Amino acid sequence: MTKRITILGSTGSIGVSTLDVVRQLGEDYAVDALTGNGNVALLADQARRAGARLAVTADEGRYQDLKEALSGSGIAVAAGKSGLGEAAEGYSNFVMAAIVGTAGLAPTLAAARRGAHIALANKECLVSAGDLFIRAVKDGGGWLLPVDSEHNAIFQVLEDGQRHALERIILTASGGPFRTWTREAMAGVTAATARAHPNWSMGLKISIDSASMFNKALEMIEARHLFHLRPDQIEVIVHPQSVIHSMVGYKDGSVLAQLGSPDMRTAIGYALSYPSRPTLDVARLDFARLARLDFEPPDETRFPALALARRAMVAGGSQGAVLNAAKEVALDAFIEGRLGFLDMAVITEAVMDRLSGLPAAGAMEDVFAIDAQARACAAELIRDRAAA
Ligand code: NAD
Ligand code: MG
Repeated sequence: MTKRITILGSTGSIGVSTLDVVRQLGEDYAVDALTGNGNVALLADQARRAGARLAVTADEGRYQDLKEALSGSGIAVAAGKSGLGEAAEGYSNFVMAAIVGTAGLAPTLAAARRGAHIALANKECLVSAGDLFIRAVKDGGGWLLPVDSEHNAIFQVLEDGQRHALERIILTASGGPFRTWTREAMAGVTAATARAHPNWSMGLKISIDSASMFNKALEMIEARHLFHLRPDQIEVIVHPQSVIHSMVGYKDGSVLAQLGSPDMRTAIGYALSYPSRPTLDVARLDFARLARLDFEPPDETRFPALALARRAMVAGGSQGAVLNAAKEVALDAFIEGRLGFLDMAVITEAVMDRLSGLPAAGAMEDVFAIDAQARACAAELIRDRAAA
């Protein structure tokens, strides 16, 4: 059976890699819908090349541009939230969820509810709405495969039938561009410096989140939901080469790791081909050239995001959604030069303090309400800080 795939966020870093993997996988795969945001020229080009049925821009103001770019192609065009919904509903049995941020939550959820197999790059879905999202996948009857390289690695080495023997997981972190910097030096950095990741080529926001280690913070919460872990079973180790993508420790003392080049296409290919392994044209590891693998404990004084994640997991309730929303607002402010690099964690913590009493969301509407409340709170605190 041909696999029909929809890519939510096809114009981003993960989306572009996914289209490359789909091309490499050959004729067993066909593209149903593609979605993007402002970059309609790239979206139109992708849709034509892939022979998509539908192309959607999330930006309603770009609808006409996309329509013009695809005129005569026979490819249907839509825009805005309803367009994203149309893409998520669609005719595909596979959906790559690769929109960045909370904007990806509603369409990914719609795909989960109708039972599509979800390859999940958008970690924010799990951080904001973990239990509800996992339940939607279950109720829909599809499955969820993690694309985030760490979680994909854990999924690969979590042996079938050995779940009861799992003791801990060890998430690896590159440490980002500021791994060896002092707090004082980090205080003055700009988005241009923070986005330069040493190993991975990724979208702007996740690159900066890697520099602050908020990315690892989100990944700790993501892992908790994906693999049903207690907070104390989730460890982080800094591994600057990004060759070991993560590890599972078992009760007998064994540790299983997945290794590879820092190239997301391996994780994407695995998620789209599971339970088989595809043949992929990605760089092979050369151990002789690699020579060594280094490890060091993360420094939570310079990277307070990790402690915030642990706090959110232990507290439960809505603290994951609050952390994620506050961080997104702080990140936007940092990118726009309205907030310092270290202040992203200060703002996030302050919002978590203010909204610490919020109960766990009972329904998706609650998640969106909590998200909005945390955003408003973060925006207010950032304004106050600028005025002070
Ligand atoms: P990116 O910024 O390169 O691309 C984001 C995509 O989302 C683009 O297609 C963009 O058009 C779309 N988008 C942006 N804002 C939107 C909005 N408001 N509404 C609808 N669509 C919107 O991001 P990326 O690096 O590809 O990351 C995508 C997701 O995958 C993120 O959640 C990220 O954390 C996760 N992820 C990425 C990597 C990586 O290597 N890039 C690795 C692991 C996880
Ligand atoms: Mg990751």
